[in-house]
Amino acid sequence: MIEEKVKKVLKKIRVNKKEKILIALSGGKDSAVVAQIMKKLGYNIQGIHISLGLGKYSEKCLEVVEKLCGNLEIKCYIYDLKKETGNSMINYFRKNACKNISTCTICGIFKKWILNKKARELKANKIATGHHRDDELQTFLMNIFKGSPQLNSNFGPILENKDKKLIVKIKPLFFISEKEIENYVKKNKIPFVKEICPYRQETYRVEIRKIFEKFSDKEKENMMKNFLELFKKIKKDIQKINYCEICGEPSRNRICKKCSLISSKK
Ligand SMILES: [Zn+2]
Repeated sequence: MIEEKVKKVLKKIRVNKKEKILIALSGGKDSAVVAQIMKKLGYNIQGIHISLGLGKYSEKCLEVVEKLCGNLEIKCYIYDLKKETGNSMINYFRKNACKNISTCTICGIFKKWILNKKARELKANKIATGHHRDDELQTFLMNIFKGSPQLNSNFGPILENKDKKLIVKIKPLFFISEKEIENYVKKNKIPFVKEICPYRQETYRVEIRKIFEKFSDKEKENMMKNFLELFKKIKKDIQKINYCEICGEPSRNRICKKCSLISSKK
């Protein structure tokens, strides 16, 4: 069932089997499922993993990613966050602790920056991530509650690039529920890290998750459809992409999010 759904989405967003697709593997179950299914469906996939340097947790993630790629017989590119950005994640957390920005947001910004840059250097056609339906619904609502609906410009199973330096991102699990993923992982004995990141700081997301617990699958599917309709309207207002004055990577502002996290005082 889940394999059929993924197949349908990939067909709908026109992913070609000859294209080079990099799967952003975190060590978690979601991205592992993307790799497993896309490999099974015959796509040209390779793994990419960013080692975050968060102690034992990161070591375990790397170990699991290597095991998964070995099982699937796919190549895996490993990058070290500190080497790529000049400082450690722990230091970025410290430097930005006084701001109203969670560790997960900070981490996400760095991962996204490295992924896009490396995917471009590796001449990949697309990056696939493990975002699933429940993640996406939560994020959509969080952005609305926070009063930043333009952030929902990342909503949808495919993010077309608005710039030649931006690699197209796809979310093959966009319509798949977390429950379905959990069942698939169990059934197929897919290796993944069960521990939660020790630095996780997503209290707001946890609150939002609770709201969704009250809804049935059918209701969530309807929400997804409605949000997609809404998104079509938002999309028209998306700002133009510039290049960051410091690192040269695509950015909506003069300085990209990653560089503003690095250069912040304190
Ligand atoms: Zn920058």
